[in-house]
Amino acid sequence: MFSLKDAHVSNSITHTIQTIQEKIRQAAIRVGRDPASIRLVAATKTVPVAYLEEAYRAGVRIFGENRLQEAQEKRQILGPREGLVWHFIGRMQRRKLKDLVGNFSLLHSVESLEQARSINAMAEKLGIQQAVLLEVNVGGEASKGGFTSQEVEAGMEELDQFPHVLIQGLMTLPPWRENPEEVRPYFTQVSQLRDRLARQGWARIRMNELSMGMSHDYEVAIEEGATMVRIGTAIFGSRGEARNQREE
Ligand SMILES: *Cc1c(COP(=O)(O)O)cnc(C)c1O
Repeated sequence: MFSLKDAHVSNSITHTIQTIQEKIRQAAIRVGRDPASIRLVAATKTVPVAYLEEAYRAGVRIFGENRLQEAQEKRQILGPREGLVWHFIGRMQRRKLKDLVGNFSLLHSVESLEQARSINAMAEKLGIQQAVLLEVNVGGEASKGGFTSQEVEAGMEELDQFPHVLIQGLMTLPPWRENPEEVRPYFTQVSQLRDRLARQGWARIRMNELSMGMSHDYEVAIEEGATMVRIGTAIFGSRGEARNQREE
């Protein structure tokens, strides 16, 4: 399956994953957290299946995809693997929603009450409960989806009424900053929001998960409480032109 050139890349993927897992562990330990409470989600948009294969062999068990069709093609090729789960981390277009519900073990980026309502209705039809996170647009950027902090707080009562949506926590994609220390305040803000919502003790809503941190800032995110880090470039290399694919 691999050419010689790929074999070289694949060795480096394995090595890189080990290095990242060690950095995750150390970041957790620095702040007195259990390293086992943090999961690596490999962000695999535009990444060839052969590299996913290698990542799986190196111990990665969660792939996060941004596009339905691409995800389905890759899943078809890889087939079912022990312990492997697929998350959807991209923006969810309305017309794609019904194909996303029931097809991913976690949808990271529910961006509105209306979307949560639709997911509930679709999951009800399928007779399932769909696990999701609520995306918080902490930087208030127009190009990104998500609830404002105020919208999440105001929406909790209704969100707690959806029997077919399992809300497990929050996700955020803060503004890009070259220096990860400048991203820290955004992570802190979402982390504090999560803690506040958790203390309110809702009936259905769980606030255990915090999906935040990418290739260049995941260590800071872990120090601020991330339970899932979504890492692409640092594992697989640059995506080149596909970089902005999340924005469609
Ligand atoms: C692509 C992507 C990532 C990973 O970004 P990197 O900088 O390559 O690590 C994380 N989260 C989301 C939502 C993405 O679309």
